Amino acid sequence: MGQPTENLARAMTRLGEIPDVLGVEASPIYRTEPQLVREQSWFANQVARVICGPQVTPFAFLEELLNLEIDLGRDRTRGEGAPIRYGPRVIDLDLLLFDDVVMQTERLTLPHPGILARAFVLLPLVDLAPDLVLPDGIAIREVLEQLDYRREGDQIWQD
Ligand code: ADP
Ligand code: MG
Repeated sequence: MGQPTENLARAMTRLGEIPDVLGVEASPIYRTEPQLVREQSWFANQVARVICGPQVTPFAFLEELLNLEIDLGRDRTRGEGAPIRYGPRVIDLDLLLFDDVVMQTERLTLPHPGILARAFVLLPLVDLAPDLVLPDGIAIREVLEQLDYRREGDQIWQD
């Protein structure tokens, strides 16, 4: 919602201000056609590589991301009047990977389960880390090659 690329820029700045974050490297921004809820504006997607100090844990970092979403104006209302899932939102900050950590808990799943299926995740991820191999040994470039999507410049279509 609003100005997606500005929202992303603000998020990148704020990521760098999280305690014990030592550096942030941002991918190019892609524009993605909405998939599930189609009557909404195109999304802007970006991946960041965040270098953290050794004291940062996956749960602590997820907590920082969720707080940052709220700070940037994300509406997390539940029940009546709640925003629809996959609908418009100011920002969505997901933790894709945390080193080679593999975990499945109620609060946090790593790697993020959406990585393998989504061109809007894999394209910027490959830009940042072309040779990245997932914890299970699969190269992200190979995953991307198997995926059915269309890309023109910074625009992505995927059914
Ligand atoms: P989505 O990102 O799937 O569109 P939300 O942003 O509303 O939906 O996330 C809902 C919950 O997903 C968060 O409260 C968080 O606890 C959980 N979650 C599980 N794994 C992850 C992850 N890897 N990154 C971000 N959130 C995650
Ligand atoms: Mg999320």
